[in-house]
Amino acid sequence: MADQAFVTLATNDSYAKGAMVLAQSLRSHGTSRKLAALIGPHVSEPSRAVLRKLYDEVRVVDLMDSGDDAHLALMKRPDLGVTFTKLHCWTLTHYSKCVFMDADTLVLCNIDDLFERAELSAAPDPGWPDCFNSGVFVFLPSIDTHRALLNFCTEHGSFDGGDQGVLNGFFSNWATADISKHLPFIYNLSSIAIYTYLPAFKQYGHQAKVVHFLGKVKPWDYVYDVSQRSVKGQAQDPELQPNFLLQWWEIFSSIHPLLKEEYSDQPFNTGITQEGFHGGAGCGATGPPPMPPLPEMSSQERKQRWEQGQVDYLGIDAFSNIERKLDSFLN
Ligand code: UDP
Ligand code: MN
Repeated sequence: MADQAFVTLATNDSYAKGAMVLAQSLRSHGTSRKLAALIGPHVSEPSRAVLRKLYDEVRVVDLMDSGDDAHLALMKRPDLGVTFTKLHCWTLTHYSKCVFMDADTLVLCNIDDLFERAELSAAPDPGWPDCFNSGVFVFLPSIDTHRALLNFCTEHGSFDGGDQGVLNGFFSNWATADISKHLPFIYNLSSIAIYTYLPAFKQYGHQAKVVHFLGKVKPWDYVYDVSQRSVKGQAQDPELQPNFLLQWWEIFSSIHPLLKEEYSDQPFNTGITQEGFHGGAGCGATGPPPMPPLPEMSSQERKQRWEQGQVDYLGIDAFSNIERKLDSFLN
């Protein structure tokens, strides 16, 4: 099993926090596979040090000095920077098989059985189920595939501007060719799906194996209240058990001392106050934790965001808030 690995990517300190929680969640469920993190050159030294404690391998990927195909591709398509970085996972040829997981995923039980699957196995995307979601996928590292992906990307671009568009374009027969490459949705349960199909979530949500905090607002953007063990700004919805955001924060608070230690000689806001602590933009900041990102905006702006798919399901657009609004109309 030493030649198989879970792989993630973090190009900055925020996503690095997600990568830390992901690794801890994989380890606490007893994975027998290696853990590898690809990081960007902007990840700070203290974050790297913590990642090195949690991952077997931490590899800095700087497409600007990788010299060859990746560099050339990036020169032609600078808009696809993070996408190219993610595709870099195919270059990890010292592993025979890997499972890529976004840094905003959280593992809820052992998922080593994913290594029985073939390339490219992935779960359907909740927004367009004939596409797979690229937050969790099984792949076979190969320089040839990497080169072909870069060529595809440079030639065709990405229909959604990111890696998911490229990968669905490249592995274009995923929807129809082989059902064994369709991972059950519980291997990549998007937080979005909780609200788009609530009865299904109530029926099957407890079977979830991986939760994916897909979308604009990530777990580390919230404020966590240690004493209350609650996430501020998150609508408490007793019907929505289990509370995945809270689980993410409980793991992050267990890793937090490691980060604090690494930042010992720098002005790092531990984030721990009587009120709670936060995961976002913490490094170097002092003073009270910021408010959670519940933006002040007009209902017109909010409507526009909703229509563009930028819905804050865990915050202001939470089901309980929508329900309250409906009730006020009905009354
Ligand atoms: N990512 C990153 N830095 C960024 C954006 C993305 O490292 O600035 C990586 C990270 O692993 C992240 C993945 O690319 O989980 C995909 O992006 P994201 O999760 O934000 O997209 P979503 O799942 O919300 O569509
Ligand atoms: Mn994601």
